[in-house]
Amino acid sequence: MKSTLEKRILLFAFLVLTLTIAANTILTIDGFRRDYRDGLILRSRSIAESLKISIENLLEQGAQLSAARSLADRCSSIVNTDPEIAYCLVEDAVGKPVFASDPAFVFGPKVKMISAMDKSTALLQFGNRQRYYDVSVNLFSDRDILSGRVRIGFPETVLKERIKSILQRSLIVLAGAFTVVFTLVFLFVRRDLIGPITTLSTVAKEIAGGRFDVAVPELTTRDFSELGDALRHMAQSLKERDAKIQQSYGDLKQTNQQLQDSYENLERVGAELGRSREMYRSLLDDASDAILVSDEQDRIVLINKAAERFFGNRRQEVGGTNLYSFLEQLQVSNIDELYRLHGEVLDGNTLEAEIRFMSPVENRPVVGWVKASPVVGRDGRRRVQSIIRDVTREREIKENLQRSTAELKRLNQMKDSFLGVASHELKTPLTVIIGYTELLMNEWQDRLEPPVMGMLEHIANAADRLSNIVRDMVDVSMLEDRRMKLRMREVDINPVVEQAARELEFFFDRRGQHLSLDLQQELPPVLCDPDRIAQVIGNLVGNAIKFTPDGGRIEVATRLYYCRRQRSDVSTSGNPEVTDGSFCPLAEEKQPYLLLSIRDNGIGIDSADLPHVFDKFYEVGNIEEHFTGKVAFKGKGTGLGLTIVKGIVDLHGGAIWVESSGNDPERCPGCLFQVILPVVEDVPSPQG
Ligand code: ADP
Repeated sequence: MKSTLEKRILLFAFLVLTLTIAANTILTIDGFRRDYRDGLILRSRSIAESLKISIENLLEQGAQLSAARSLADRCSSIVNTDPEIAYCLVEDAVGKPVFASDPAFVFGPKVKMISAMDKSTALLQFGNRQRYYDVSVNLFSDRDILSGRVRIGFPETVLKERIKSILQRSLIVLAGAFTVVFTLVFLFVRRDLIGPITTLSTVAKEIAGGRFDVAVPELTTRDFSELGDALRHMAQSLKERDAKIQQSYGDLKQTNQQLQDSYENLERVGAELGRSREMYRSLLDDASDAILVSDEQDRIVLINKAAERFFGNRRQEVGGTNLYSFLEQLQVSNIDELYRLHGEVLDGNTLEAEIRFMSPVENRPVVGWVKASPVVGRDGRRRVQSIIRDVTREREIKENLQRSTAELKRLNQMKDSFLGVASHELKTPLTVIIGYTELLMNEWQDRLEPPVMGMLEHIANAADRLSNIVRDMVDVSMLEDRRMKLRMREVDINPVVEQAARELEFFFDRRGQHLSLDLQQELPPVLCDPDRIAQVIGNLVGNAIKFTPDGGRIEVATRLYYCRRQRSDVSTSGNPEVTDGSFCPLAEEKQPYLLLSIRDNGIGIDSADLPHVFDKFYEVGNIEEHFTGKVAFKGKGTGLGLTIVKGIVDLHGGAIWVESSGNDPERCPGCLFQVILPVVEDVPSPQG
């Protein structure tokens, strides 16, 4: 188990303190012991010296050493007064005791010398095993003859006793000092060392746990404060690095995902490719068009079933042969063109051409439409894939159609010239018939029987209708040959409109229909032939009367109208807002026009018929259903009225178009015919 730093420091402090105190105590005690011993030796020596002086004085006076008995008391008193002195004895020159304070200390064979400190001091062990320091001083007679010696001894136990008491005292003092010092060390370690370390360690653990925004408390110790700052910086830089790592991780994750997606895609594409290859092979064989693939060396490398049928050759025979030998064998008429095409397709172009040859199987001319495109083979080399469609039948149909179109064109021309000739040829006899009929009816009225008059009226009506038809035919013929001449002048259009509409008032009354005129005042003048414009209005309003049930409503309106239709002498028709620029060129700015609109609430026109109502002889619905009569409901006409209207409007540089939501005699959705005619130039442009 690991011990904590606090324990270690305290243990260390404890050991250091203990060792220091122990070492110090040992050294101090040892010094003290030596000093004390030396002190005792010195004291013993000085006692011995004073005794020596006294004895030597006696000896000088001639007394014998043994006679100096008076000194025995002095020795005893020395031992008695000084408790530390154990013995005091005087010996003669041979070591025989003269007197002793205690006979127990008389030197004999049982006394052993332990150590000699100098010539006069030694540690001795007596028979009772007690040890004593012995200090001896030699006695000399007046003739300097060694006559004896004084010995003073003190027990070794005196030192031990002394040291023991001192040791006891110092130990108490040292224990107190040790406790104080150890407590101080403990408090210091706790507060200034372990406390900050614990705080910083907690912070470090938090950082290690990923909490980089942890607050590091301010620490008072400089070293720990620096460590705290370092931790703070470390947390900050770790935070930034963590953010970067997170970002990089995100990027990495994304890249990894993309890589995975790409890999999956690649696998999918690989699988698709495999499937596509299979599909290509089966499609190739199932394809209805002939497919032939040739390589850079002009060799045929692939041919499908349809190609076998088309060329009348077996696959095994064709595969690997030279493309041109193959075409020559088929007697293809445009080999050179196909040769050039093959080269250009190998350069990367996709080209189309025709191939013509005699079918070797059916012995008939065959036409194919070749679409050649470059493809890359598995070996990475470019090839030419030719898809050949059998257009023999289409060509036959096309040629037949071209022939039919030419025939139709010829017939149409014949019809047009018949129209011109017939109308011209009919005009004179009709004038004669009408003239004579009128003459008979006016001049011979009294002389003719009523039945004859009735017959004459029928003839006059029929001739009148025929005359109208002939007039229409003449107009159409003139418009087609561009022979119609307009008498153009600046015209105030509203009176012309009003006049033309009012002329039909009789028919409105007969059909019980209501005419409403909504004419914008102060319109600019229109450059036109007023008679032809009246004819246009008459035709359009006449149609409105015809195709609107009895009691219906017809509105005629004029307006100034701006649109981007180019003003031109060469005119086209159609809605100027919806027509495309190529058909009707568009101007930079809006141009002023007069807009004439005729709206009815009649049976309307089906959307399928709308584009054709201006065609020659075009009549909507079953012609058999039409009633004869100029303005009879759904009355039968020639189918030329709107053709003439459009022709006249075109000649004026205007346009006409029609709008209707369908043909329905029950619901009567009605029609809106709109005509625009250019007004004279100096009309200001509209704002915006
Ligand atoms: P027609 O002289 O026979 O009326 P048009 O050329 O004037 O011939 O008209 C062609 C056809 O257009 C008509 O037969 C008719 O079906 C249709 N049509 C013309 N005007 C109207 C209208 N206002 N309402 C419904 N149909 C119309």
